[in-house]
Amino acid sequence: MSLIKLENVSVYFQNEKNPRERVGALVGMNLEIEPGEIIAVVGESGCGKTTLGKVITDIYQPTEGRLLYKGKDVRELDKREYREYRLGVQMIHQDSYAALNPNRTIFQSLSLPLLQHKMVKNRQQAWDRLVELFTEIGLTPPEQFLEKYPHQLSGGQRQRILLARALSVKPSLIVADEPVSMVDVSLRISLLDLMARANKKYGISFVYITHDLGTARYIAHHGRIAVMYLGRMVELNQIQAALDRPAHPYFHALISAVPEADPTLRNGRMASLPLKSFDMPSVTNAPPGCKFHPRCPYAEAVCEREEPRLREFEGGLVACHLVEKIRANAPPRD
Ligand code: SF4
Repeated sequence: MSLIKLENVSVYFQNEKNPRERVGALVGMNLEIEPGEIIAVVGESGCGKTTLGKVITDIYQPTEGRLLYKGKDVRELDKREYREYRLGVQMIHQDSYAALNPNRTIFQSLSLPLLQHKMVKNRQQAWDRLVELFTEIGLTPPEQFLEKYPHQLSGGQRQRILLARALSVKPSLIVADEPVSMVDVSLRISLLDLMARANKKYGISFVYITHDLGTARYIAHHGRIAVMYLGRMVELNQIQAALDRPAHPYFHALISAVPEADPTLRNGRMASLPLKSFDMPSVTNAPPGCKFHPRCPYAEAVCEREEPRLREFEGGLVACHLVEKIRANAPPRD
């Protein structure tokens, strides 16, 4: 049974400029997250990946469709089950400063959920648990970090503390929303390694949300990748297969735009895909048909008329009317 399942989930917001209009931040999303898996969710800003993370953690409720936790609709969980879900599914935010109360020491902030949810009996037990966790993730000496306020720490240290906060309640799934984008490049790999270690050691699933294909590939190299565009998932596959042979023209364009300095990612044999436009349309003004058609070099009349559905292709899923034709006409690979 999947840990998390999204069944045809859509999230609509009211258009601020025209209150009678709805804006689809996430549309028709179907996704299952298995225990212990890492799935990277990639796309440009405004593609719906953060909305997806907020649906999984119940910060946003679906306007349409259902979110299931261990096979049960989250809206139908009883009080005990809902508490288990809220503890079991944690989120790490991009902005570590905003995610921590500036008026509380790290110990005060991190001991609160442990005490509230009776995961420890008293402050001493909370202290001991956090000392153990901080040591494990390299925040040493732990006592010093626990007594500090958020502003006394670097961005990388705060992000480790957010990871410790998520791990402290023994979750089954962590949604990490751009967790390293505000961290020094030199510290990114060590944070990703910590997440990978937590995945391996405790079997914690990760949804890793990013616009950076390099870090997605690093953390999810045995997992899957979901590619988002204007609120829709346009490709889902094993990450290695998808990076090597992207099916959706948008994903092809994303990969071929990666600077060649990263040769492991930027497959040297992959020709770049010149788009008709660099600008992503706004979700408030999404085009009809395939949302990618104003930029897609392969677009035909059908693409302007009909929105493609996700369907099976070469072991993954892709939302493109013409994928077979595009593949058949692709230059042969070395
Ligand atoms: Fe391009 Fe058409 Fe495929 Fe959309 S459906 S990605 S416009 S070829």
